[in-house]
Amino acid sequence: MTAVPPTEAPPQATRRAPSIVLLATGDGKGKTTAAMGTVLRALGRGWAVWVVQFVKSGKWNSGEVGLLTDLGAEWHTMGDGFSWEVDDLGRSAEIARSGWAMAKEAIASGRYQLVVLDEVTYPVNWGWIDGEDVAQAISGRPATVNVFLTGRDAPGTLVDVSDTVTEMHNLKHAYEAGIRAAKGIDF
Ligand code: ATP
Ligand code: MG
Repeated sequence: MTAVPPTEAPPQATRRAPSIVLLATGDGKGKTTAAMGTVLRALGRGWAVWVVQFVKSGKWNSGEVGLLTDLGAEWHTMGDGFSWEVDDLGRSAEIARSGWAMAKEAIASGRYQLVVLDEVTYPVNWGWIDGEDVAQAISGRPATVNVFLTGRDAPGTLVDVSDTVTEMHNLKHAYEAGIRAAKGIDF
């Protein structure tokens, strides 16, 4: 494909919003890393940041967790691990529900400029958390609270409440060639 550099500037945005809602979904890699990149950016601006990770369990702590908490992010791991490794899904649902109760409070408090709900689409899609409740908490949030949602198969309720929605599309993934998840890249 040939292309030429654009000679005209794209249309200028003129409005400033006190906060926005972002959603990273799709089956390709990069959803959580996009959220964590935004956490880094926010901390760099001196913002108060609050993060909850659904589904993931503490023993699977990813490389960024220690670093971002050292930088001041408030972190909550509210998961039990992969559903196929869990004996008691009722317990997993319970953990997710308490994670959401905490997140709802963090959003409503107005104390954080960024609230991240990582992997939130799963407990919503599995009926553990009410998507309408999530959407309402987000649309009724204090004006200065930005929210970042991640997870595959985002339901319409979450797409509707978001301003910026990116679908990571999987063209290729090393995993499909039999390559195991790697420290420093995948976690
Ligand atoms: P990342 O955390 O690397 O940004 P993600 O949040 O987009 O990935 P998840 O669906 O949350 O992806 O998947 C969690 C784990 O599965 C990560 O280790 C990620 O690298 C891996 N993964 C992501 N996409 C795929 C895929 N298409 N096939 C296999 N594994 C994947
Ligand atoms: Mg993820």
